Amino acid sequence: MNKDGSINLAKITSKKNNFQSPILFLFILIITLFVLVNIFLMTNFLVSYVDFEKCTKANEELKKSKLPVPTTNCELNIQQKFLYLISNNNIGSIAENNLRKAKQDLQEKINQERLIQDQIKHNLKKLMIEDNYFSTINTNLTGIDLLEYESNKTKALKEKLNQKLDEIEKELKQIEDWLQQFQDLELADFYNEFLEIKTNTASLIDNYSRILALKQKLKIEIESQFFIKNPKSDITSEDLFRFRYFDPPEFKQVFDDTKWNLENVLHKTDKPSLSGNTAVDEYIFALAEKRGYRLTPQANEQILVGFGEKRLQPLAKQAFENMRQSAEKEGINLILVSGYRDWNTQKQLFWSRFQAHSISKNGVQYSFEDILTGKADKILDEVLQTTSVPSYSRHHSGYTIDIKDDSVANFILFKDTRGYEWISANNYLNAKRFGFIPSYPAGLTNMGPNPEEWEYVWVGVDNLIYTNS
Ligand SMILES: [Zn+2]
Repeated sequence: MNKDGSINLAKITSKKNNFQSPILFLFILIITLFVLVNIFLMTNFLVSYVDFEKCTKANEELKKSKLPVPTTNCELNIQQKFLYLISNNNIGSIAENNLRKAKQDLQEKINQERLIQDQIKHNLKKLMIEDNYFSTINTNLTGIDLLEYESNKTKALKEKLNQKLDEIEKELKQIEDWLQQFQDLELADFYNEFLEIKTNTASLIDNYSRILALKQKLKIEIESQFFIKNPKSDITSEDLFRFRYFDPPEFKQVFDDTKWNLENVLHKTDKPSLSGNTAVDEYIFALAEKRGYRLTPQANEQILVGFGEKRLQPLAKQAFENMRQSAEKEGINLILVSGYRDWNTQKQLFWSRFQAHSISKNGVQYSFEDILTGKADKILDEVLQTTSVPSYSRHHSGYTIDIKDDSVANFILFKDTRGYEWISANNYLNAKRFGFIPSYPAGLTNMGPNPEEWEYVWVGVDNLIYTNS
C-alpha cells in the first residue's frame, strides 16, 4: 500500500486536511467575531447618533427654557453607551428626563408661589387694608398689585400714625380739661409743663411717654389737693377724673344733643297758642328763638313721679335725691323749688308776666298791632330774659329742676350760697356726677334766658364722661 502513490497521496491529502481544518475553523471564527463586533459597533454608533440627536434637542429646549438646570453631556464613552443600550436606556431620554423634572420643579415652585399669594391676599383682607380689590382678582399678583399692596401698607401705616396722634391729642385735651376743671387748685407747675409739651407738637410721638407720665403726676396732685380741700366730700377718686370739662356753650350743646333721646319724652314739635293770634304768636316765638331759646321735648306726664308737690321724671327724681344727700354730708341743704311744668302753665306764666311788665313800665298793655310793629320788642325781651315761652322751657321735659339752699328765701339768691359754691365747683363736678348740668350757666349769651344759677337739667352720667378712658 505504501508502494501505491495514490494511497500516499491520499494519506498526504488526508494528513493535509487534518492539519488545515482547525486553522480554517479559527480563521472563520475570527472573521465571524470581527463581523459581529463590527455589526455591534455599527448598531452602537447608529443608536448613539439617534441618542445624540435627542440629547442635543433636549439640551436646546433646556437652554431655551432658561431653567436653572445644567444641560446633559451628550458624549458618553463606549462602556456607558453599552450599558445604556442593554438597559434599554439612552442619553436622549436622560436629557428628556432632566427637562421633565425641571418642568415639574418649576410647576411646584409656581404652586408654592400661588399658596404664598393666597396667604398674602388672605392677610390683606384680614388687615382690612383691602376691601374688595384683591378678592376680585383671580389671576396671580402682578407688579402693579404689589405696588398697590405697598402703597396700601404705607397708607395703613399713616392711618396708624394718625390714630396715635389722635390718641395723644385726646390725652392732651384731657390734661387741659383737668387743668380747667380744677383751676381753683394750685397746678401752676403742671400748667407750664403741659404748655411746654403741647407747643412741641412736632415731636408729639416722642413725647407720648412724657405725656402719660405727666397725666399720672397730675392725677396724684389733683387727688391729694382735692381731698385736703374737701375732707367731707363723698366724691370718689374715680369721679375726679371721669367727667369731661364743659365750657358754657358745650353745656348748652350737651342738652341739645341728648334731649330728644331722653326716656319718657314726647316727640312733639308743634307749639301751643300764646296770644290767640297766630301772627302775634309767630312774632313772639321768633323773638324767643333769636334769644337762643330752642324747642324742648315734653314729658309723658303719666310716667312722672311726685316730689313733694312737684313732679319729675323718675330718673331725675332719684338723681336729685342722691345729690341732695351728698350735699347734706357737707352740711348743705338743697331744696327743690320747681320741677315739671306743662305748656299751659308756661303760657299763663309768660303772658301774665308780659302784661304785668307792660303795665309797670308803660302803664298800659300792648295791643297786637303794637307787638307786630315792634313797639313791644323791648318789654318782650325783658320778659324773655327770665321767662320762656311755652314749648321752649326745659321744665317741660320733666328732667329740669330749680333749686336753692335753705340759707336763702328765694332761688334767685342761690348764686351767693354755699350750696351754689358746692354744686358749681370744679366745672359743676357735684352736679355732673349725678347726671345734672347747669341749664343756663354764667358766661354764655344767646342761650335763651339770662344765666340761671338755680336751674339744672338731668342728661345722665353717660353723656358727661370721657368715653375713651
Ligand atoms: Zn327753671
